[in-house]
Amino acid sequence: MDLGTSLAFLPGIGSYYKAKLARVGVLTVSDLINYYPFRYDDFSKSAKISEIRSGEVVTIRGEIWSIKNAYTRARKVITTAILNDGSNSIELIWFHSPYLTKSIHPQDLLQVSGKATRRKDKITIVMPQWEKVNRQETGEDLNINKSVHTGILVPVYSETEGLSSKWLRQKITSVLTQVNSQISDPMPSEYRAKMLDLPYALSQIHFPDSWNLADQARERLAFDELFYIQLQNQKRTLEWKKKKLINPLVVSEADLENFIKKLPFKLTTAQNKVIDQIVRDLKNSQPMNRLVQGDVGSGKTVVAAVIIYLVAQNNLGSVVMAPTELLAFQHFNTLTKLLSPFGINIGIYTGSRKKIEVSSKPDVIVGTHALLSDKLKLDRIGLVVVDEQQKFGVEQRSVLRQKTSSPHFLTMTATPIPRTVALTLYGDLDLSVIDELPPGRIKIKTHFVPKKKRSDAYAFIAKQIRQGRQVYIITPLIEEPALPAGRSETNASAKSAKVEFEKLKNGVFKDFKLGLLHGRLKGTEKESVLKAFKNLEIDILVSTSVVEVGIDIPNATIMLIEGADRFGLAGLHQLRGRVGRGEHQSYALLFTESDEPQAINRVKNLEKIDDGLKLAELDLKIRGSGQIFGTLQSGRWELKIASFSDLPLIEKTKEAAGKILQESPNLDKYPLLLGKLRDLEKIVMPD
Ligand code: ADP
Ligand code: MG
Repeated sequence: MDLGTSLAFLPGIGSYYKAKLARVGVLTVSDLINYYPFRYDDFSKSAKISEIRSGEVVTIRGEIWSIKNAYTRARKVITTAILNDGSNSIELIWFHSPYLTKSIHPQDLLQVSGKATRRKDKITIVMPQWEKVNRQETGEDLNINKSVHTGILVPVYSETEGLSSKWLRQKITSVLTQVNSQISDPMPSEYRAKMLDLPYALSQIHFPDSWNLADQARERLAFDELFYIQLQNQKRTLEWKKKKLINPLVVSEADLENFIKKLPFKLTTAQNKVIDQIVRDLKNSQPMNRLVQGDVGSGKTVVAAVIIYLVAQNNLGSVVMAPTELLAFQHFNTLTKLLSPFGINIGIYTGSRKKIEVSSKPDVIVGTHALLSDKLKLDRIGLVVVDEQQKFGVEQRSVLRQKTSSPHFLTMTATPIPRTVALTLYGDLDLSVIDELPPGRIKIKTHFVPKKKRSDAYAFIAKQIRQGRQVYIITPLIEEPALPAGRSETNASAKSAKVEFEKLKNGVFKDFKLGLLHGRLKGTEKESVLKAFKNLEIDILVSTSVVEVGIDIPNATIMLIEGADRFGLAGLHQLRGRVGRGEHQSYALLFTESDEPQAINRVKNLEKIDDGLKLAELDLKIRGSGQIFGTLQSGRWELKIASFSDLPLIEKTKEAAGKILQESPNLDKYPLLLGKLRDLEKIVMPD
């Protein structure tokens, strides 16, 4: 067995567990030992039964005197055992574990951990952790380090996918003992002078000998996580800089002015500033690599159109990649409107429309990640635009880059990125910010709506529709989830688009035209729903958060969000940004299923704050990094163990990466680091 061994080849991991592990991204031995616990139960205090006080969390070793199952009237199983350690007896109780009587027998020696309660003279531990102790090993000889479930700081893992901590502990301990000696530390020792070495940190993160060592292990692994992001970014920047030089583009000021003058509106100062920054890049002999960040509705698309126009004047084509077909079609329409009067052809290439729909070779191809397909040949491309770039992975952007050989690269995002995150993730990009909205926008009024005011909200919506406006109703789910019997998940009460659509259509909004939109519709179906909404054939669009990115329909003035507590604040802000795009007063109405004050207060932040960056920073504080990037692909940005709010560590890792690259720009002095980076680049692409 080595670190790269697939878990499929390990004994005791059948297809059932393999699938569950795969869902949390654990495929190999290495993945498994890098699946860290999120907390520990402190079972390090061992005690004699006679000395236990009520409420104490303890570990006891003793002999099983009896064990039996009893059945309640509801046919529930209760397993009761008596354990004696020579000083006294204790009662152990388990629920729903009838099989226990098959593995624990009278006279077995057991070590058990848990919280003891004492009623009169009876001491009980409910649902204790337990493991068997070998008879030969009893007494002084018992090596306590062999315990994995009791007697130590016991790791507790996230059990979201139905992987029990007990199962994980067993597998991880067995794998760790087999491969620990094969783990080498790629970090040059001078950069980890005061930190634990990697093999030790890995064993201590799972089975720490003390709280202090658990902290040190965490620090070392958090350092690594941030360090490799930094190293990857900085190395990429270096390569980018020495990339083969390209011909600077010729930008005629007169051309530029002429194009801008013919736009249907006057550009904002911020838009002009960003265009200037980009134009300067185009005139360089190094390809541009720039991220344009601008709040929803700040007008990023038209900036892209200006640049595409300038590139076309140099007889070069452009590629525009959007994260959804919906958005691709919208861009296709916008760009056609803006650019075709200048004789520029636009084509579209998405999953449902593989052929490029123009007779001649288009100058601009708009599409989704279908653009990455080998079948599509791209040549003479001068510019690649990636819209809503946070929805794509680094590796997808580099595929496009390779296909197009050194084009200028323009990425755009509405996601407000806190400084610490930008510093970490986007170290390799230049940043432009459109920090101004087009004039005349009226501030969106945002209200958290308590449950009892729902019908008032519906009446308000009806009134708005009668005045000619349109409405979005967003639900967290597409359809009701099929729950495993007996599981009452929090999901159960979440509204789904399909059910809500039927309910509203036949109920309170039966006089209006409703449309339904969600991610499982085909691209052309989505397009036609959206077209109908745009053409006023739909009054209320019931949708999942697929409308989150980019959709632009200025006549829509109400954004009603169900289950707002299930979204991140930045995600809610993005959704809210679908309204307030025209001349009418717009509203965001936020509902929650939860009555918890905490959840409600979090959502209420949107009433007061309309700065996306502030909301993102708040999210970072309250819920961690995964939430910043909305609900769709949060995992991609989720740090496993480090934190984006840990500025000192971010700076420390940035400095370490910088020094190492200065010493050895190609990392040929550090083959292990290079290997590690190669591994990191092999991230699986989502579909
Ligand atoms: P985003 O930055 O969210 O991608 P869009 O590019 O979709 O924003 O623009 C939002 C809306 O604002 C569009 O309807 C667009 O036509 C309009 N718009 C963009 N720039 C201006 C401007 N300078 N003045 C007026 N309207 C503008
Ligand atoms: Mg946009």
